[in-house]
Amino acid sequence: MRRTLIAGNWKMNGSLAANAALLAELKVGMTGQSCDVLVCAPAVYLAQCAEALEASPIAWGGQDVSMHASGAYTGEISAAMLSDFACKYVIVGHSERRAYHHESDRLIAEKTLRSLAAGITPIVCVGETLEQRELGQTDAVVSAQLQAVLDVLDDEALTKIVVAYEPVWAIGTGKTATPQMAQDVHAVLRAQLAARGVAIAEKVRILYGGSMKPENAKELLAMADIDGGLIGGAALKSSDFLAIINAV
Ligand code: 13P
Repeated sequence: MRRTLIAGNWKMNGSLAANAALLAELKVGMTGQSCDVLVCAPAVYLAQCAEALEASPIAWGGQDVSMHASGAYTGEISAAMLSDFACKYVIVGHSERRAYHHESDRLIAEKTLRSLAAGITPIVCVGETLEQRELGQTDAVVSAQLQAVLDVLDDEALTKIVVAYEPVWAIGTGKTATPQMAQDVHAVLRAQLAARGVAIAEKVRILYGGSMKPENAKELLAMADIDGGLIGGAALKSSDFLAIINAV
């Protein structure tokens, strides 16, 4: 049985003061829920998260990681550094990084390897644009994105990743994929994992992301192959994020 993961992606939002308030509210609201809960904060705030969330059931993680181990890569943050701050997870290949930073499938596969080598669970994001969906390319696009990662991982490593399906057209737009639309793509991704091994496919969690909010979380999370959520906007407000956690 896969344990549901509710992950917040704060993106480039927050401040010391705002984070302190949000984290304190989340801690108070966590009352023995049965799912895993994670916040992915901007790197400069990971120390704050580590301090605030230590001894809480909430994990913290990064939003990106370098493909390199260390060295002359100005501005980059290594997996070892994330590990230094006790990050359990890191998002790799978010569509905003693919689009604005021209991250390729190959680069994302390298980042996945770096994360795993540091003992950090990579949340590998895949998703199609509106144009690709309208052209009927959704399955081919997400499968190619996932395959690039599958190709570099052995079976044991593969069981350690999390996949997130985030249709680009649903991110920050208020347009959510219907539960069935999301489920259909999750089933494609699950089948792709099963081609590597049924036991692998049963283990790997596939999250949905894209305008998930308290009003739609329950029906999305009820789908057979949706194992959690990767939440942007609604993760910035404690009442919304807690409502999604409580919808599990
Ligand atoms: P929104 O929940 O704001 O649509 O963002 C989704 C997302 O990109 C999470 O990584």
